[in-house]
Amino acid sequence: MQNNIFQEQAKVVSTKQIADNTFETTLFSPNISGHIKPGQFINILPSNNWSYMMRRPMSVASQNSDCISIIYKVVGVGTRLMKDWSKNQVVDILGPLGNFWTGYNEYEPILIGGGVGIAPIINLKNHLDSLSINCNLIMGSRTKNEHFLDHDPQNDIYMTTDDGSLGIHGTVIDGLRLIYSNNNKQKIFACGPPGMMEAVKFFSDDNNVICDLAIETIMACGFGICQGCTVELNNTDTKKTSYREKY
Ligand SMILES: Cc1cc2nc3c(=O)[nH]c(=O)nc-3n(C[C@H](O)[C@H](O)[C@H](O)COP(=O)(O)OP(=O)(O)OC[C@H]3O[C@@H](n4cnc5c(N)ncnc54)[C@H](O)[C@@H]3O)c2cc1C
Repeated sequence: MQNNIFQEQAKVVSTKQIADNTFETTLFSPNISGHIKPGQFINILPSNNWSYMMRRPMSVASQNSDCISIIYKVVGVGTRLMKDWSKNQVVDILGPLGNFWTGYNEYEPILIGGGVGIAPIINLKNHLDSLSINCNLIMGSRTKNEHFLDHDPQNDIYMTTDDGSLGIHGTVIDGLRLIYSNNNKQKIFACGPPGMMEAVKFFSDDNNVICDLAIETIMACGFGICQGCTVELNNTDTKKTSYREKY
């Protein structure tokens, strides 16, 4: 976690549908856009109506000096409200929140995104491009309608689909096997659904590749106070009993 967290009244610039049930909204948010780092997220109040008082966490998918964008799937009441935001509507957001990715300078980064986990991976890809750091990008989905990038192996961009309708037929692990080179220089950065993250972790354990997973468990506050986002650590040391050491 880092210190500078802003509560900002952002303004909706645009919303467009970019894939099946997937939307991209750009927000004018100069404070947060100036401070957020790839991997971090914002916590959004989708409406000022007290019936919808819980914020919804969303990773930032792109940033420039004034604006940020988010990419989201509509799954429930909050995201339904978000997709219908009107242009210039003012939206209350908190950020930057959460951890950010590091260590991409020393390695050959492999970026892996799946499901709603694609947003922070896109932001990291943009960042690496701006630093002229070459990387491989693998995006996984069930079918081609959920993808919004082209399968472009010549530029190290790989789409995978469970049904084979675009790119590599299979999961992101099939894509990973193609580009894994056993040279001890690669590092994986991944964000996606729990099953995908588990598979990436097992691959990295089996092949001794360093792997940095961005976990997106359901949460409320977004900055650690409600402890709703906890993930139990594989910690068998009986002396380590405090909450922080266990989760
Ligand atoms: C740090 C973080 C970053 C995120 N970034 C993105 C993003 O970039 N794009 C995106 O589309 N989504 C992202 N999510 C998930 C997003 O926050 C939820 O999809 C959203 O809150 C759902 O709100 P809702 O009101 O539409 O759905 P609700 O009505 O609250 O829930 C609808 C369904 O979605 C399930 N659900 C809600 N949140 C999650 C979750 N975090 N994981 C798994 N299932 C969930 C609920 O259990 C329920 O079944 C992120 C979550 C976290 C914690």
